[in-house]
Amino acid sequence: MDRYDVVVIGAGFAGLTAARDLREAGKDVLVLEARDRIGGSTWYQPDVFDGVGLEMGGTWIVPQQTHVWAEVQRYGIAVEDSELPARMTWSDRGQVLDTLLPVPPQEYEQLEHAVRALITDASRFDPTRPLSEQDVADLDVPIRQWAENAGLTGNAKELMMSWFCGCANASEDTGSALDILRWCSSMDSSLWGMVQASVLGFTFVDGTASLARAIRDDGGAELRLSSPVRKVESDDEGVTVTCDGGVVRADRVVMTTPVGVWQDIEFSPALPADKLAISRENHAGQGQKIWALARNVPEDISGFGWGTSFDYVGAMKTTDRGVVLVCFAPEHDRVDADDLADVQRAVREFAPEAEVLDAHSHAWVHDEYSKGTWATFRAGQFAKYELCVGRAEGRVHFSGSHTARRWRAFIDGAIESGKRTAAEILAAEQ
Ligand SMILES: Cc1cc2nc3c(=O)[nH]c(=O)nc-3n(C[C@H](O)[C@H](O)[C@H](O)COP(=O)(O)OP(=O)(O)OC[C@H]3O[C@@H](n4cnc5c(N)ncnc54)[C@H](O)[C@@H]3O)c2cc1C
Repeated sequence: MDRYDVVVIGAGFAGLTAARDLREAGKDVLVLEARDRIGGSTWYQPDVFDGVGLEMGGTWIVPQQTHVWAEVQRYGIAVEDSELPARMTWSDRGQVLDTLLPVPPQEYEQLEHAVRALITDASRFDPTRPLSEQDVADLDVPIRQWAENAGLTGNAKELMMSWFCGCANASEDTGSALDILRWCSSMDSSLWGMVQASVLGFTFVDGTASLARAIRDDGGAELRLSSPVRKVESDDEGVTVTCDGGVVRADRVVMTTPVGVWQDIEFSPALPADKLAISRENHAGQGQKIWALARNVPEDISGFGWGTSFDYVGAMKTTDRGVVLVCFAPEHDRVDADDLADVQRAVREFAPEAEVLDAHSHAWVHDEYSKGTWATFRAGQFAKYELCVGRAEGRVHFSGSHTARRWRAFIDGAIESGKRTAAEILAAEQ
């Protein structure tokens, strides 16, 4: 049986980073990845819609995400800034509002109140420390309840809920408001910062795959693709890992799969009750990201909607055939990505003349190696699981963007967690 110092399960950004750092420290490392590619919840497809490259998963980063930003600089990866849209589109239940702000003038005060509530609540905590250890349990409630508790009304309330749901990729009745307030808090409690973090970040010129490959090549750890792990058995001397294609032995294991996937792996000793419980509950990020190629759409459309199928529709680039739109929905079954007529119906809630020519998406929620999009906590999960998800169980170390602090559920959080886990293993061995 092959023996390694460390076996890393999963070749997303967390796994690739942990493997690289452990290799740098002289460890013999094997990475086992279920899919036939690296990158995990990021997946750049270079040739969709007649040669346009599209990100199926993680896409945008901002300089305040210091872990991913440092990697981009370290490997000289090309990134480009988003263009500020000249105007916004607001869709009130499918009716496009041709107004400066999403509320009529008599409701401006309510909009101000909503912005103040966002900034006040985001300022109440330090996003670099565990939120469950700070006095903010009252914010760990469903997005809708937060909006009601804050006394938001009218379109200001609708807009705020839609924006939060867009950030959460979760519905207003499941996603934790605290997990989204964290975005604002992480941008120094700035409204503009949160806009940047949610719709105006930088993208990778050659796709997120360019950074994933750079980290993998630098580390040079052995990588086995198409090797889903089925069993992780620990004893006093080490860990035996069984995957499709073989059995290997290691001193320690780094587990980076999304939480919903843990329950499908046989652990011995069994996972503790808290880890098993969150794996079964799963996180709230159960929505959709759908790309559409459309004609008769403004080239700079950037729209938020409430009472609509998508909560955000934005133009990313223009090709000879039309405008490439990225669209998000907070639930996995809002729009049928395989049915152009249905995608067109949903896009028309933002651009009534739109003609959708093509659509492309990956159903992360139904993918057995993801079981969701990004790991927004459900309301109430901070208190129960924030600390348990990243806690080591003997020789099995738990990593992944869901275990990160400031930018959990982002690419940055994945890299932060990979670094932390590698350091944790090196410290444990001293
Ligand atoms: C649609 C979408 C949009 C997003 N947008 C953004 C964004 O704009 N900006 C941003 O920063 N973040 C975004 N994210 C989140 C970001 O992509 C993730 O937080 C990050 O990539 C997670 O990295 P990870 O390594 O922790 O987990 P993952 O990337 O999920 O890696 C886990 C790996 O484990 C593998 N695996 C699962 N089960 C097994 C098994 N049994 N055996 C072996 N391997 C297994 C998986 O195949 C996967 O490769 C988005 C995510 C999605 C899905």
